[in-house]
Amino acid sequence: MWLDCAANCGAAPLDPDQPRHLCSCGSPLLARYDLEALARTWSRATLGEREPTLWRYREVLPPADRGAPVSLGEGFTPLVHAPRLGAALGMDRLYVKDESANPTNSFKARGLSVAVTRARDLGARTLVVPSAGNAANALAAYAAQAGLAARVFMPRDVKPPFIRECELYGAHVTLVDGLITDAGRLAAAQAAEAGWYDVSTLREPYRIEGKKTMAYELAEQLDWEWPDWLIYPTGGGTGIVGMWKAFEELEQLGWMPAGRRPSLVTVQAAGCAPIVRAFEAGAARAAPWADARTVADGLRVPRAIGDFLILRALRDSGGAAVAVDDDAMIAAMREMGRLEGISAAPEGGATLCALRRLLERGVIRRTERVVLFNTGGALKYLELLQS
Ligand SMILES: *Cc1c(COP(=O)(O)O)cnc(C)c1O
Repeated sequence: MWLDCAANCGAAPLDPDQPRHLCSCGSPLLARYDLEALARTWSRATLGEREPTLWRYREVLPPADRGAPVSLGEGFTPLVHAPRLGAALGMDRLYVKDESANPTNSFKARGLSVAVTRARDLGARTLVVPSAGNAANALAAYAAQAGLAARVFMPRDVKPPFIRECELYGAHVTLVDGLITDAGRLAAAQAAEAGWYDVSTLREPYRIEGKKTMAYELAEQLDWEWPDWLIYPTGGGTGIVGMWKAFEELEQLGWMPAGRRPSLVTVQAAGCAPIVRAFEAGAARAAPWADARTVADGLRVPRAIGDFLILRALRDSGGAAVAVDDDAMIAAMREMGRLEGISAAPEGGATLCALRRLLERGVIRRTERVVLFNTGGALKYLELLQS
């Protein structure tokens, strides 16, 4: 219905029928719906008959006004009970939300299905994204499905499967010296000149909408009871920000009780942990991380435009923030594979390392219900597993 400044700067709500990127104050924009009316007219009992994709929650997604949504079957991924991994940790209520089951093998598909649908409906012809790898693959695939052109900008040292997959979907690939932030600067400059539509993380309002559906699915898959903890590998933070937004929406819809939200945990790599450092310092914003290094490409994000939103969600939820070493992430990939048959990216492995740490510290209790987010599969990272 309208778009609000995420920082509540006082700017008037914006009309979503125009292409919109950031608020005039430089903060991300959030999509708003008439939840009061929806609470009266939309019941969660309607979901049972709907398609097993994230578009089953279409009432709380932007409308696809020019044809069907641009969809490859994203979302409604398995929530896997992990008894053997749980037993190794002395837990019996451990779950993995397996986002590797998404098209292009990561949860980036969610945000890009929704953002590309909206961009198409707003008349965009060429879409552009800076990416550490997975967002580029997802943009390339959804742009191809929509018949739009995709331009992706990635760090030159990105793992080769990410480059090949972009090419497979016909995207134009530019490799940039430096990190995703450097790729972002170049992409923004070329986009401004050429008039491309920018779908960078949190710089347009709809990738958050796609990612928030992870929380709707969790609620539905756990029969409308929240777990105690969600452990999430955080780079740009779309997932954390999106799920926190979904908690509020689900309460306003009357689908979930107020006051029982799960606690959110951010996991980052020890070699790039700006959010963890800011969380520990009690800061409202995160200073950029110098010399960012990690094998978990999705976590190699030295500066996040939504840092204040991530930090607020962690604190308001009574959550935590943990940094883990690359070697431990890779060992955890193997453990998730061996014990549960799950194909985990290093980012997914990182969530298991964080759980172990928080159990040791007594922050999480072994009797609690915990969900790990395996945000991507292992296949594009196989070089890490070569011994
Ligand atoms: C992008 C990415 C992340 C980080 O996600 P954000 O929602 O941007 O914080 C984590 N894991 C993988 C596999 C990714 O591709």
